[in-house]
Amino acid sequence: MIDFHCHLDLYPKPNEVLTTLKRNKCFVLSVTTTPMAWEGTSQLVQGIKGVHMAIGLHPELAASRHKEVDRVCELLHMTRYVGEIGVDGTQRHKGSLDIQVSIFERIIDESERLGGRILSIHSRGATELVLDILKRRVRNSIPVLHWFSGSIKEAAVATDLGCWFSVGPTMLKTKKGQALAATMPIDRVLTETDGPFTSNACGPLLPWHTLIAEESLALIWKRSCEYIQEQLTQNLIDIAGEGIS
Ligand code: MN
Repeated sequence: MIDFHCHLDLYPKPNEVLTTLKRNKCFVLSVTTTPMAWEGTSQLVQGIKGVHMAIGLHPELAASRHKEVDRVCELLHMTRYVGEIGVDGTQRHKGSLDIQVSIFERIIDESERLGGRILSIHSRGATELVLDILKRRVRNSIPVLHWFSGSIKEAAVATDLGCWFSVGPTMLKTKKGQALAATMPIDRVLTETDGPFTSNACGPLLPWHTLIAEESLALIWKRSCEYIQEQLTQNLIDIAGEGIS
């Protein structure tokens, strides 16, 4: 089971989630929304095999927390995972677009300076802009477009740029999400939940609910669930250098 984009620190009871994770074979990339959250919660997962924390500054917080980009850059040498970063171009956050872009570019540039990082990227309502920034600035890092919501054409552009994609149950429930996933390169896709910001009837999606995304991918790509699981595990080894343990 692989959850390449969730927010462990934002679940109502993170320790309960971690207890279950410890008992199961999994790989979880927990992204954070501020450097303070990363500093405060990194200890939470220390020593838990397969659970990693990414440092980020969420684009939706750019307007109010932009000064914290300095701290992100100071801490970047301590982790190979960066996120949640990116740009949100929807109505609600359009007003801070310039500042969002400058934060995103600065974190990418610092990641590049350090030899490259794995980047979990938010691009809602700003696909073209994000892809343009990646094209101009990324050489060593690996961009993983989380919950990609651009067009089929933009997905092809992203693929040509070398981007990876992380897809979750909520995205794959929609016709558009399914159509996008069908065009994504099977060897550059990982699963995610974006929990606790996504939910089902029982509550927020938990990392092991990526099983639902695996089942969707099996249908979309017309392969068995076992095949999908093996493919995703191989993808994880390719990007992270470690499997599921
Ligand atoms: Mn997220």
